[in-house]
Amino acid sequence: MEDMFRFADEFGPSQIIHIYRPSLALKAIVVVDNTACGAAIGGVRMAADVSVEECIRLARAMTLKNAAAGLPHGGGKSVIFGDPRMATEAKERLIRGFAAGIRNVFDYIPGPDMGTDERCMAWVEEEAGRAVGLPGVIGGIPLDEIGATGFGLAASIDVAREFIGLNLQGARIAVQGFGSVGKHAARFLAVKGAVLVAASDTSGTLADASGLDIAALIALKQAGRSLHDYDKGVKLPADAILDVDCDIWIPAARPDVVRADNVARLRTRLVAEGANIPCTVEAEQALYARGVLVVPDFIANAGGVICAAVEYRGGTQRGAFDYIDERVRANTRAVLEESRRGNTLPRAAALTLAERRLREAMQLKRWHSPPRAQ
Ligand code: NAD
Repeated sequence: MEDMFRFADEFGPSQIIHIYRPSLALKAIVVVDNTACGAAIGGVRMAADVSVEECIRLARAMTLKNAAAGLPHGGGKSVIFGDPRMATEAKERLIRGFAAGIRNVFDYIPGPDMGTDERCMAWVEEEAGRAVGLPGVIGGIPLDEIGATGFGLAASIDVAREFIGLNLQGARIAVQGFGSVGKHAARFLAVKGAVLVAASDTSGTLADASGLDIAALIALKQAGRSLHDYDKGVKLPADAILDVDCDIWIPAARPDVVRADNVARLRTRLVAEGANIPCTVEAEQALYARGVLVVPDFIANAGGVICAAVEYRGGTQRGAFDYIDERVRANTRAVLEESRRGNTLPRAAALTLAERRLREAMQLKRWHSPPRAQ
């Protein structure tokens, strides 16, 4: 217990719920971090090596992201222990069991995350009565299919590049994690003239200084294959993506992939955090000291949750894209200007912005307000 409480502060977490159903081999954790702005929205992650600590930190990232984006939602997250590539029937059983377990956690609205997708959200919706990121056929805006987060990431990069005088035409991008976020970010950036010089997935890194064919790689992944199955380019180990000479480096896989011990390997001018908490605090400090601009996760990758919030209120895909474009651009600019003005890390500026909104919302709520003077 003590261990979990070490993460608690004035903002949360408000609840940590463990779900165990031995008959289903189900082990899951839900963290509802802060609900001052409204019911918590946050993804359901499935991976074999998730942890309560990862879940708590990701839930906080959602609180900050939702507050920074000005959404009427708090932050939460859940993790299911398991290999996401398990057989579909087994996965459906596990996800439905998980969803039944959160039926009464009314202040948590689940969405897709690593290892889960729109189809999983349809199962969750049926069992729990709520979910976002649903398939279009049952009223959702399929945020991973349309690339809502990748679209927002490209918009954020388009603003950030002004701060370092980088032209997107011909800019070299490297993407770690060619999944829902990474591949769409590459696709939207290519429309602006950028060139994908390397991408990675769990099979390894694929590199080509003259540019990889993004459409072909997306088709390959859609067919259930890996980047290393591609017949062109140089094949390298997964972590070689850190060494790729590029202008924009996009982490879009797991947390803590850039740390004090490997940050010196990055050869880039801009890091746009597609994944949640991909760089440790020390790594972000080291990059700042080297003059590498980092756009923090909860500013750069808010596209998906903005889309989910629009869906939850019955909005359209067009409306979602407009909202993402406007919000992510405005927030990226506000954070980078504040960082420049105050000579602080972009993350510190982003935190100030989000925490100010959170505190304002908390003042309006009975449970979150500080005790009133008698
Ligand atoms: P995904 O499962 O669709 O894709 C993840 C990709 O990363 C896969 O291609 C996988 O092979 C690859 N990968 C996993 N471990 C890797 C490693 N060690 N090295 C290289 N590649 C690796 O997941 P996603 O939805 O694209 O999410 C990626 C990240 O972005 C996660 O951190 C997630 O929390 C974050 N995120 C996602 C969204 C969204 O809308 N999907 C929104 C905000 C943040």
